[in-house]
Amino acid sequence: DLGMPPVGGSVLLADPRGYCAGVDRAVITVEKALDLYGAPVYVRKQIVHNKHVVNTLAERGAVFVEELDEVPEGATVVFSAHGVSPMVHEQAAERGLKTIDATCPLVTKVHHEARRFAAEDYRILLIGHAGHEEVEGTAGEAPEHITLVESPDDVDALEFPEGTRLSWLSQTTLSVDETMETVRRLREKFPQLEDPPSDDICYATQNRQVAVKEIAKDADLVIVVGSSNSSNSVRLVEVALEAGASASYRIDDVSELQEEWLDGVETVGVTSGASVPDDLVQDVLTYLAEHGHPDAAAVRTADETLTFALPPELRRDMKAAG
Ligand code: SF4
Repeated sequence: DLGMPPVGGSVLLADPRGYCAGVDRAVITVEKALDLYGAPVYVRKQIVHNKHVVNTLAERGAVFVEELDEVPEGATVVFSAHGVSPMVHEQAAERGLKTIDATCPLVTKVHHEARRFAAEDYRILLIGHAGHEEVEGTAGEAPEHITLVESPDDVDALEFPEGTRLSWLSQTTLSVDETMETVRRLREKFPQLEDPPSDDICYATQNRQVAVKEIAKDADLVIVVGSSNSSNSVRLVEVALEAGASASYRIDDVSELQEEWLDGVETVGVTSGASVPDDLVQDVLTYLAEHGHPDAAAVRTADETLTFALPPELRRDMKAAG
């Protein structure tokens, strides 16, 4: 050791990161709806949980509302990727709204599972975060049958009458490891617990967690680009820390990156949540290059090729318009 400072630190760029098939479809849905029907197009809730995406679409004429009573009668409204409960569909019909449902097909799948378990009179333990839109939508499919379980420790307080048929479902964007721990504790306490037909945590959430673990092993610092209300982005910070990163921070964009985070850091890991446009990541790489970390290498842990067709109601109108 000659006491020389390293010439330049390196950057490990997670791949996959960023946009998933459900987000891509939801964003394109709003863009196409604006092209087809003209502004304003109303969107119930944030179409995806990313500040930049929402701002960009708002500039083009999308009007984001919290609830349907803010939408004028007869107007067109897009439902977000996180899904809505049947009650919201009913409200839209009552108000004569034209609806385009951009719910991710992988969320719709969980809704189907909830309905099926409820029809067979199961008590459904829904693992997820209270107040998240996806959880509200899924719970709304079978409100009488669902009990929310937010963490492994929540399991201790659960009690059900003997003979209760139990199953579990989950939000699509949770930590895989923490969810497995919750299920393990559920099964320990309730051996009759039945599994859903397939995993609810989606491929994109799983792939991004695998990728961030891979870079976190070798990184002193992991930067996650994503908004604070993005469940899968927030999880990436937790997973990075558990996987061995000394520090990990979530930022909406490069303007939130603090120079002192880089003090003494040799290897920086970079990733982004499923709702994040990649130009925001590229801005971070540019910043890092200008601050002593010029070499970025992609670390690829999966190939993603899934895409989803646009909502049928939108495709029909696009076809009719030629
Ligand atoms: Fe669909 Fe998963 Fe993307 Fe959510 S994160 S929109 S469930 S693919």
